[in-house]
Amino acid sequence: MKTIFAMAGNPNSGKTTLFNEITGARQHVGNYPGVTVEKKEGIYINKDRKINIVDLPGTYSLTAYSQEEVVARDFLVNEKPAVVINVIDASNLERNLYLTIQFLEMGIPVCIALNMMDVAKKRGIKIDIEKLSDLLGIPVIPTIARNGNGKYELIRAAQKRAKHGNTPACLEISYGNDIDQTLSKMEAEIRTKQFLTETYPSRWIALKYLENDKQIINLGKRNHPVVSNRLEKMVRRVSDHLKSTMETYPEAEIADHRYGYIKSMIKQGVITHKPDQDRLFISDKIDKVVTHRFLGPLMMFAVIMGLYQFTFTYSEIPVGWFESFFAWLGDTASALLPDGLIQSLIVSGIIDGVGGVLGFVPLIMFMFLGISIIEDSGYLARVAFMLDRVFRIFGLHGNSVMAFIVSGGIAGGCAVPGVMASRTLKSPRERLATLLTVPFMNCGAKLPVFALLVAAFFPENEAGVMFAITLIAWGGALLVARLLRSTVIRGEATPFIMELPPYRFPTFKGLMIHTWEKTWQYIKKAGTVILGISIILWAMMTFPGLSEERANEFESQRNLAKASVSSAILKKSRTEVEETELSKEIRKLKEKLDTIDLAEAEAALKYSIAGRIGTALESISKLAGFDWRTNIALVGGFAAKEVVVSTLGTAYSLGNIDPEETESLADRLKRAPGWSPLVAWSLIIFTIFYAPCFVAVVCISREAGSWKWGIFSMVFNTILAFTLSVAVFQIGSLF
Ligand code: GDP
Ligand code: MG
Repeated sequence: MKTIFAMAGNPNSGKTTLFNEITGARQHVGNYPGVTVEKKEGIYINKDRKINIVDLPGTYSLTAYSQEEVVARDFLVNEKPAVVINVIDASNLERNLYLTIQFLEMGIPVCIALNMMDVAKKRGIKIDIEKLSDLLGIPVIPTIARNGNGKYELIRAAQKRAKHGNTPACLEISYGNDIDQTLSKMEAEIRTKQFLTETYPSRWIALKYLENDKQIINLGKRNHPVVSNRLEKMVRRVSDHLKSTMETYPEAEIADHRYGYIKSMIKQGVITHKPDQDRLFISDKIDKVVTHRFLGPLMMFAVIMGLYQFTFTYSEIPVGWFESFFAWLGDTASALLPDGLIQSLIVSGIIDGVGGVLGFVPLIMFMFLGISIIEDSGYLARVAFMLDRVFRIFGLHGNSVMAFIVSGGIAGGCAVPGVMASRTLKSPRERLATLLTVPFMNCGAKLPVFALLVAAFFPENEAGVMFAITLIAWGGALLVARLLRSTVIRGEATPFIMELPPYRFPTFKGLMIHTWEKTWQYIKKAGTVILGISIILWAMMTFPGLSEERANEFESQRNLAKASVSSAILKKSRTEVEETELSKEIRKLKEKLDTIDLAEAEAALKYSIAGRIGTALESISKLAGFDWRTNIALVGGFAAKEVVVSTLGTAYSLGNIDPEETESLADRLKRAPGWSPLVAWSLIIFTIFYAPCFVAVVCISREAGSWKWGIFSMVFNTILAFTLSVAVFQIGSLF
């Protein structure tokens, strides 16, 4: 079989010069069939082994915009050269790597000839070749084509790569949330329908559709018009979305992220020295400050602290409105509906449960607005970039950062997409470590739990406490990652690169749409999943109800109180006491009746299925300061963390007896016996660390490939959480 090497690169990178050096006089010049593009072929002979070398036309990209690009790409796909020698102009590294990235995205075996090393040296550019090779995962050989320097090393490296034989996995870059999501949907469609997959990798086909590559789209239309139509529709949807949110389009977004990927690689020390006269772009200038070794982290803390300040300060008033609205709704419903099970279901189960969660909509909205600004402006990518360095220390990978942030690293994400985001990690060990630690982040469901406790017990310093909660979550996650990576999932670290998209001014419309999308998901969840769980938990907290005997006991207590008061009134009316005395007696009666009602409600709750579970757990949970009501909430929280709030809402409203008094749950907790700031901290710690919600556990099991890891995360996290809470509560109690 013929071994073919292809030389490819940007125009003027020195391809032809290198080609001539290697093949000498054994050349043949023709044309590619059907086009006027010149085809140069030559032969290199090494110990009787013949290698055919083809000098491809110079191109900047592999999307079919020009004839040269089509020719180069068709050659790669149809002739399948054993290795592509990618000739790169070392004095212009960033721009030249753009093509390299595209080879890697296509899954083509590449070997780099880092050419024009003399020019680079003269200009004072120093390149860490080993680092470049490590980051890209391919051989890089320095050459000076003009005098043949490095050509034998190059051939040797290429032959070694060719002997190695297997096709590399396609490089997967993140092109931003919107495109990534569309890409994976398109990929699934392409793979299941086997759409052009015998010729091209599936992700690559999807990418070409997004880049509006006429050649691939026409090919697709001819072969499978239905699938092609569907793909085009997905592209149109994301195009419209990008246009309305960020005034950009997929091709530009993809190019930006490819350059961001390269820039991030360069920033990691590939170019060790660059002459000063090199003009910096604005983005680079900003980056110099924002990702500075000392200033960068300080700024990052300031931005996140500012975000919390903004969220808690501005959301306070609308959160108050929402709370009063649901309190009013509950009162109105209890006034209109007859006493009994239906009233209890609607008021205690639905309005207090779901309302407790929906009450936080303004807070969630402000948080998401702040995060959208940080994300759309390009700053979030810088945060991730800075955290890269930290992550390596803890045995995680640069790509884990985004998974952490998506899961709620700043507050208000979700572990489910976070778990999905860890797919970008190639090393199974690093992926597993990421999967198991992302649930510690403060997702949007834990946020209301914290907001409730913070509002009730630390109203003077909400933003500060929220910031502390964030640091605890991160610290815990990183330490656990380190622990796992040095015990159950030990292994080598792999190099990482992360995209740095350019800075942009977020558009007003874009912010509104992004904020609303995320908020709507939260509302939808409250209206469906949380509603269902609230009803189930209400039922568990209501049934079986008190036995007739016990109910009668309370009834007779009530009658006794009424009787004693009416006899008192009777006596006083005879002796003609004043009006005020009379009303005092009536008020006393009312108070007495309230206490009896409260005692009955509490007895009923404790007797219910949920109450019995909560009480059974109390003997252990009291070590952490949790009473049986909190236990019910925490058990419910396993279904979805929002349920902790809604269940506390239901538990404390079942005992709420005064319909005149509209009081928020935070106020009720503050006054409830058994609660204190210390208990609040213990509960906060437990909520951060205990078992991930059910959906997250399912996802972790699926992504890790075994139920073993899903169960591990439930058991391990709960034990960890409980240990920490007990420590906090016991040590705190000493003071
Ligand atoms: P192609 O367009 O990629 O085929 O590039 P060419 O091989 O035609 O080279 C473009 C120009 O760069 C020519 O003038 C070459 O002599 C010059 N050149 C190629 N390689 C080197 C090198 O390593 N060092 C220097 N200084 N010049 C080079
Ligand atoms: Mg040429």
